[in-house]
Amino acid sequence: MKADNLKKHQVTPFLEVREYIDAGYKSLFAAQNIAPATILSPVTYQEILPSPSRYSLQLQDGQHIELEPIYLRYTNHSCSPNVFFDTTGMVLQSITEIKIGEEIAFFYPSTEWEMTEPFDCVCGSENCLGQIQGAAFLSDEMLNKYRLSAFVRERRFR
Ligand SMILES: [Zn+2]
Repeated sequence: MKADNLKKHQVTPFLEVREYIDAGYKSLFAAQNIAPATILSPVTYQEILPSPSRYSLQLQDGQHIELEPIYLRYTNHSCSPNVFFDTTGMVLQSITEIKIGEEIAFFYPSTEWEMTEPFDCVCGSENCLGQIQGAAFLSDEMLNKYRLSAFVRERRFR
């Protein structure tokens, strides 16, 4: 990847968007070293949608929001996530220590019950789950290894 093909936009003190121009691809990275349990961004939205979209985050059954600020939509999935979307407090929060320049990633099934676009994960972590389809498709044991939204936790374990 040529350097001039990559643009970095710092969007908050903690976060920067990296834009790969040729690929038309954006993702979110740490703009500084981040301690665990740090609030990284507010999570807001314009409206609640009845079904999921490519960029939505699930709040409840039949309640999906398209993430704002827009940079939050570039948060990729990892099976070893370093951040969590807290849909109760409506913030993005770090889980682990995150080093400057590390990609910011969350565990999609931590909020998504059934995803519209399942995909084969290539996160490369040693506990990679392979196909990611949402919390509905994972065992209790698997889900219990992760921090989960109140909605996913109650839907599975109530
Ligand atoms: Zn994975």
